[in-house]
Amino acid sequence: MSEACNSCSSATAGGCSSGGCAEGPEDLKLKTTLSRIKHKIVVMSGKGGVGKSTVATNIAVALSLAGKKVGLLDVDVHGPSIPRLLSLEGQQPHIGDQVIEPISWTKNLWVMSLGFMLPSKADAVIWRGPVKIGLIKQFVQDVAWGDLDYLIVDCPPGTGDEPLSALQTLGRDANAVIVTTPQGVAVDDVRRSVTFARQVGNPILGLVENMSGFACPDCGSVHNIFNSGGGEELSKEMGIQFLGRIPLDPEVGRSADEGYPLLKVDHDSPTAQAMNSIIKPMLDLGDSLQENSQLPKVEELRDEHGRIRIAIPVAAGRLAQHFGHCEQFAMVDVDAHTGSIISTTMETPPPHEPGVIPRWVAEQKANLVLAGGMGAKAQTLFTDAGVRVVTGCPAENPDELVNKFMAGALVTGDNACDH
Ligand code: ADP
Repeated sequence: MSEACNSCSSATAGGCSSGGCAEGPEDLKLKTTLSRIKHKIVVMSGKGGVGKSTVATNIAVALSLAGKKVGLLDVDVHGPSIPRLLSLEGQQPHIGDQVIEPISWTKNLWVMSLGFMLPSKADAVIWRGPVKIGLIKQFVQDVAWGDLDYLIVDCPPGTGDEPLSALQTLGRDANAVIVTTPQGVAVDDVRRSVTFARQVGNPILGLVENMSGFACPDCGSVHNIFNSGGGEELSKEMGIQFLGRIPLDPEVGRSADEGYPLLKVDHDSPTAQAMNSIIKPMLDLGDSLQENSQLPKVEELRDEHGRIRIAIPVAAGRLAQHFGHCEQFAMVDVDAHTGSIISTTMETPPPHEPGVIPRWVAEQKANLVLAGGMGAKAQTLFTDAGVRVVTGCPAENPDELVNKFMAGALVTGDNACDH
């Protein structure tokens, strides 16, 4: 099926709640790449110059020094600065058969930046929106990241198309980290970033207050020259975690100029300690791959004959978004061993009354219902009747949905009717 979805034309990793999205080979490639990355962390800021790239780089270095496998992706199309921050300017990634090799900084930190692709650092990027957005997706899906514990993404500032595209490409489980400075003017920017991430549906890991106080090179202590602590108050007010404050430190500026991250040479100064403590909640995210926990495993569903029957509410030949209003149910029988469809029959359910359909579906010996939207009560009734439920499925034809489910490639979105 080649139907395009107007509401999310370039990125479907987070699922398309409009239900009209078709998944092509590109989306499967993206999904496969993302499935090998345990945690995605998108470093954002309301505006430029607050130290977002500096913080993103030092987070990546700190995690790699903690023994984690880390990718650092610089999609700041307006000023890709990470090659300079890591002395990787002039490096050219090897481009193979449909894959781009990231540049290895150490044996467990790999870097990709638009900066590697520009002929010279004086080149300005004047590409239009759709090209930039396509590029972000390409940098995730076509780069040979391999198995990573963390992918840290340095996002363009603001709340425009590019950060939106970055979050949508990485999916709903990508965590946002927001960087700000202590000045009052930054408060509104943070509010905008928080609202933005929440609207896109991504979790916010927390807020970093950068350039907070001055790390004095003479006495070694931190002086609060401006008001600091605003970030912590704002975090409380907005219900997000405060990850810590990093002082304004001439050493940070010098290390940036000379092309090495501060954490490479310094572990003890207040600035280095502050940078190291920011990664603690990231390390706490755990070690397991974040699977789509809603999807039951094939082995949990098959009956004693090695068969699975999947029921799908249908209207006009496609999954009906509102399960109570469907005309018919497609009953798709699948060979659990080969994953192939044995037969699909259309059955008319009894008139819609509370509790009737779950009982009827169970009597049809279905093991699983793939639904768009379904109320919590109906879900409980199905579960009680021994039928598993997956909600948020797109409005596609039943066989297509079943094939994706069996291939582990079904991407679900919001439950379209969770009352
Ligand atoms: P952004 O990505 O938000 O545009 P950068 O990370 O490029 O910001 O930082 C902007 C400038 O501020 C750079 O020159 C950088 O070296 C400097 N800088 C960032 N954080 C600090 C800090 N904590 N102390 C001193 N200089 C800093």
